[in-house]
Amino acid sequence: MAKKVRVRFAPSPTGGLHLGGVRTVLYNYLFARRNGGDFVLRIEDTDQNRYVEGAEEYIINCLKWCGLEADEGPHAGGPYGPYRQSERKSIYRQYAEQLVKNGHAYYAFDRPEELETMRERFKTASNPSPQYDHTIRLEMRNSCSLTLEETETLLEDGVPYVIRLRMPEHETVTFTDMIRGEVSFNTGLVDDKVLLKADGMPTYHLAVVVDDYLMKITHAFRGEEWLPSAPVHILLWKYLGWEQDMPQWAHLPLILKPDGNGKLSKRDGDRMGFPVFAMNWTDPKTKELTKGFRELGFLPEAFINLLAMLGWNDGTEQEIFTLEELIEKFSLERVHKGGAKFDFEKAKWFNHEWIKRISPDSLQSTVKPFLEEKGIIIPGDDYLQKVIHLVKDRCTLLADFYEQSKFLFETPAQLDLDAVKPKWNDDKKAFFEAVISGLQAAGVWKAAELEASFKALATQKNIKPGEVLLPLRIMLVGGKFGPGVFDIAELIGKEETVKRIQAALDKL
Ligand code: GLU
Repeated sequence: MAKKVRVRFAPSPTGGLHLGGVRTVLYNYLFARRNGGDFVLRIEDTDQNRYVEGAEEYIINCLKWCGLEADEGPHAGGPYGPYRQSERKSIYRQYAEQLVKNGHAYYAFDRPEELETMRERFKTASNPSPQYDHTIRLEMRNSCSLTLEETETLLEDGVPYVIRLRMPEHETVTFTDMIRGEVSFNTGLVDDKVLLKADGMPTYHLAVVVDDYLMKITHAFRGEEWLPSAPVHILLWKYLGWEQDMPQWAHLPLILKPDGNGKLSKRDGDRMGFPVFAMNWTDPKTKELTKGFRELGFLPEAFINLLAMLGWNDGTEQEIFTLEELIEKFSLERVHKGGAKFDFEKAKWFNHEWIKRISPDSLQSTVKPFLEEKGIIIPGDDYLQKVIHLVKDRCTLLADFYEQSKFLFETPAQLDLDAVKPKWNDDKKAFFEAVISGLQAAGVWKAAELEASFKALATQKNIKPGEVLLPLRIMLVGGKFGPGVFDIAELIGKEETVKRIQAALDKL
């Protein structure tokens, strides 16, 4: 019987989520859903020095906002918990000890200053920062260089030690990555990684293997930056006797700067003026607020869609996909091997397309806070929906709703009368005075009727309607933009329309 598909997203709670991190979540999620599998969230918090308060909560909220919630995890529980590595501390030591017994790992007693001395001693022009590996292993203070008795004495005396993996000198480790195909490594180039730290905490390398095994993970998706660690993990699976249960690996391509020159970093985001983080994130260390896609006014639907397309397509020209369609169509065969360029202009295009597609009814609760934040008083949900219907095609980001619709909620504070004045004359003044009387007498207050009588009146006064439409727009909107001017009049109502025309006439 085929094993049930189980995948995991395993972030370290060290800060905000990077675009690449959220894309890893998405591909995990799509793969799990497509294959009827489970999606696990595991918090890899074994590095206490890099731990950031609040980061876990942020990650969970981020997944929630994206609509990509995990089935198991610290927030949801599940049969393979606990899902925080710090709470699993007691599990790992036995495996490190087992590796020592089998000769695949060893105790290392070197103090920080001894490691420093080693680096000084072995450094050369071509190797400025020598690593702890098979070439120097026997020069150091560890259970490979010491006798059994010496080692036992040190252990009995309680001398602090770490457990290191004994990397083979000349072996080729080969595995088949689901995206890049066959990949090989020469173990001689990899250092003897620490597996268990002096305080008994595992390092990432030991914990990731033990947990993927115990949590029955079948497929492991992670960023390409982890590819160099793959031989370490593969050997651990082998040495622990779990080779037949090893997950299939998929190392996802990097996300590159818009110009394709190198990996996209948070700094690029700051420099180029787009957020790399997915959400609002105040780093407790720097107290700096990083605005994210959500705050800028991206819709989760658009955000997910654009992330999916960063390194994948379905083989056709289609670019707009719902989450359901992605689940149906996503396949690893179509994930690109090369890095994917992130283009913020294209990201905005996705958002615009999604704003156009989503109904005013569904947009309402998302748009509301963007208007309220600017002090707009919304008279009611029904009115808000009409506003959204009228202006949404003009909005690229949710934040644009404010500029595009504020005149539908409040009288414009300023009117661009300079755009009207050069061609203003007494005939036009008389025309608009007649418009006011006409409007006051109007029975049906509907855009089509208002337009018809406005145009009829213009013709009657021998004025081309085109010449008075711009002034009307400026009077109602304040500037040369916005949706159909009679739609605006219909929405703001008779009293407000008349008031605005009158106020403009007084100024002209
Ligand atoms: N904790 C690692 C990270 O922060 C996870 C890598 C993996 O998925 O194996 O990216």
